[in-house]
Amino acid sequence: PHWKDPVVTNHTTDHGVISLSVPRGHKAPKELVLDQLRNRVGTVDMARCDPGDEDAFYVADMGEIYRQHMRWKMNLSRVKPFYAVKCNPDPEILRLMAKLGNGFDCASKAEIDLALQTGIDPSRIIYAQPCKTRSYLRYAAQKGVKQMTFDNADELYKIKADFPEAELYLRILTDDSSSLCRLSMKFGASLDIARVLLDLAAQLGLKVVGVSFHVGSGAEDPATFIKAVKDARWVFDQATEAGHGLHTLDVGGGFSDDTFEKFAAILGKAVDDYFPANIRIIAEPGRYYVAQAFTLAAHVIARRDVRDPQDPARDAYMIYLNDGVYGNFSNIIFDHQHPVAQILTCAGSGSDSSSSSVPSSPVAGTDYSIWGPTCDGIDVISERITLPGLVDVGDWLYFENMGAYTRCSATRFNGFPDSHDVIYISSEAGASALLEY
Ligand code: PLP
Repeated sequence: PHWKDPVVTNHTTDHGVISLSVPRGHKAPKELVLDQLRNRVGTVDMARCDPGDEDAFYVADMGEIYRQHMRWKMNLSRVKPFYAVKCNPDPEILRLMAKLGNGFDCASKAEIDLALQTGIDPSRIIYAQPCKTRSYLRYAAQKGVKQMTFDNADELYKIKADFPEAELYLRILTDDSSSLCRLSMKFGASLDIARVLLDLAAQLGLKVVGVSFHVGSGAEDPATFIKAVKDARWVFDQATEAGHGLHTLDVGGGFSDDTFEKFAAILGKAVDDYFPANIRIIAEPGRYYVAQAFTLAAHVIARRDVRDPQDPARDAYMIYLNDGVYGNFSNIIFDHQHPVAQILTCAGSGSDSSSSSVPSSPVAGTDYSIWGPTCDGIDVISERITLPGLVDVGDWLYFENMGAYTRCSATRFNGFPDSHDVIYISSEAGASALLEY
């Protein structure tokens, strides 16, 4: 692609965060992100700064989310995305999703509130949690959030009592055995009991309007979609016999950046094969939209020399960052991810990432283990990694692909903060215009 000159303007949002407008520039998006990372760390003086000034922070490229949206529309034009808020409830992401015309998949009162705060109509929300808190159900009723999933008889009795006008989606089981994060051991009705649930809903005077499924987050086998769509077709037919008028199929989440086209082709064909054009198809993508959009920078707060004089081949240092698995690297524990460290600044090597050349020996190819800041031994980010430089206290590392299931599951363990600055940029003029950056 040809990138035009970037124009940078400061912009503060009402979410109390720094926003920078970077219309599509002559640099590739990654370079724009690196520029912002370097600018920010350049302002931190480790020897004098206030507590927390050197905290880890993100650069979020909203243009990346915009590109993923365009890619979705090109490959799955029939399927309307309802962004899964759980994946990253950042208010600027939600604002962009709303402007793109997407709906929202919410699983709690707080997520419903965040979605509504974007100003969208409640009909653009699906409360996609088959086992809901009763007071939240009443809250959904009060706010007019009608669409919701269920997968068991007790949920139907709760809905009858608290929100009988709800529009229900029966969530069915899928084969998620090849997924990174399996969900079907917890949610989803088997086909054996689907008819019983549909009959019960009819007896209770409840309205079933659709079927939903989720093939598991980080799904590897696109054939799972074919089986799930086929099963959904069978449930649609059963529902018609039970007296319901179904109009929507919800194909859930499970899409990833690297396999998207393959999955979309298989899903798109299955949907067209089994569902006529008058059936609305929606999805609940999370990871696909936001994983690549966030890059995290963390500060090296400590280092331990564990080199073995007897065995120079095993040269290694332990380095400690000010973020770890109890913080933004919670994706290591909960999302089975392996974030890869890259050097942002490295005083010891006499170079930083602004020079793509590998520093000269003897520091080239030094081995490290990378640890978080808490007192717990489980707090390890990388057990062994080779980096092209002699990393020291005060240097900065960065990690790409940190947008999905990271910040949202961070804790405050040991008193470390669970909220971090985000510098927003947009490497696409389309996103800048929508967000009015
Ligand atoms: N919908 C539901 C009901 C989920 O549980 C999840 C993730 O757990 C998602 C959507 C989002 O999945 P993904 O991030 O894989 O797209």
